Amino acid sequence: MKQNNILTIVIPCFNEEEVLPETVKEIGNILQNLMSDGKVSDNSKILFVNDGSKDKTWSLIEKYSHQYSYVTGLKFSRNYGHQNALLAGMSTAVDYSDMIITIDADLQDDVHAIPQMVDKRLDGYDVVYGVRNSRKTDTVFKRKTALAFYNLMGKLGVKLVPDSADYRLLSNRATRALLKFKERNLFLRGMVPLVGYKSTKVYYARKERYAGKSKYPLNKMIHFALDGITSFSIAPIHLIMYLGLITVIISIICMIYTFVEKVMGHVVSGWASIMISIWLLGGIQLISISVIGEYVGKIFSEVKHRPRFTIEFENYTKKMRAK
Ligand code: UDP
Ligand code: MG
Repeated sequence: MKQNNILTIVIPCFNEEEVLPETVKEIGNILQNLMSDGKVSDNSKILFVNDGSKDKTWSLIEKYSHQYSYVTGLKFSRNYGHQNALLAGMSTAVDYSDMIITIDADLQDDVHAIPQMVDKRLDGYDVVYGVRNSRKTDTVFKRKTALAFYNLMGKLGVKLVPDSADYRLLSNRATRALLKFKERNLFLRGMVPLVGYKSTKVYYARKERYAGKSKYPLNKMIHFALDGITSFSIAPIHLIMYLGLITVIISIICMIYTFVEKVMGHVVSGWASIMISIWLLGGIQLISISVIGEYVGKIFSEVKHRPRFTIEFENYTKKMRAK
């Protein structure tokens, strides 16, 4: 296992044919400079992960990996999502790399932060977060919802590095630690801080997408945010429990009230018992369901043990072994 400063840059791609030529050029330049400066091994690689693209993305990746010795590709059997693509890239690269950088294909994240991240790694940091120092290119809506999301996660006790997404560097041991997390519902930006080790940040300006459309429309974004909440916090279930408790308290008040009314002789017969049982049973049921739900929710996602991705083809390992 060679690990003398080999850098692998993992790039998830889903229908990115429009940006890929520019991505290869820009990130390729950065990598070549790093290699010729001797900062990283000359066996460093770019690893494109094709996440079930429907366009020409994969044939472009194949073409580039024939053309350039430092370009490699991995192909999923279907679309497994951005987070799984990152994970597959990392697990493929971890046996050969001293450091792994993950970056989106669309060049929104400033590629010039890559050498800075490498410098931090050479200074001994295990985790280097890329943090946006401005969100000018995001819409007001995206900025506001992102802020609300980070605030909510903070309140739920989940530690996130604000304004950092999936642009980061991990050392070999930090990657190995991350890969030990076996959860199915991946929310990498919540998991990385749990790994520990010495971490630092590199600031960059987030740009517009170079070409093509965002693969994260609103519904996917909401899904991703909900995933983040439910796989990191059981607060929603606690909320149901409190709801149940409040219902029980109200039912007790109702009980006393109907009892007094009954003693005063103000009620139609039968009303008291119906009122009490509806409220009391309703409350108890809500509490019970929430308690069971707490366990079911935890077991459900874990116990299925479905594979997180299926790799159809990969030429990274072959290229790494060849050297
Ligand atoms: N992506 C992916 N699989 C998906 C969706 C997106 O691999 O199912 C990749 C996409 O190609 C890009 C990155 O994830 O490299 C981030 O996606 P995008 O730029 O569309 O998200 P945004 O920046 O708009 O949040
Ligand atoms: Mg993007």
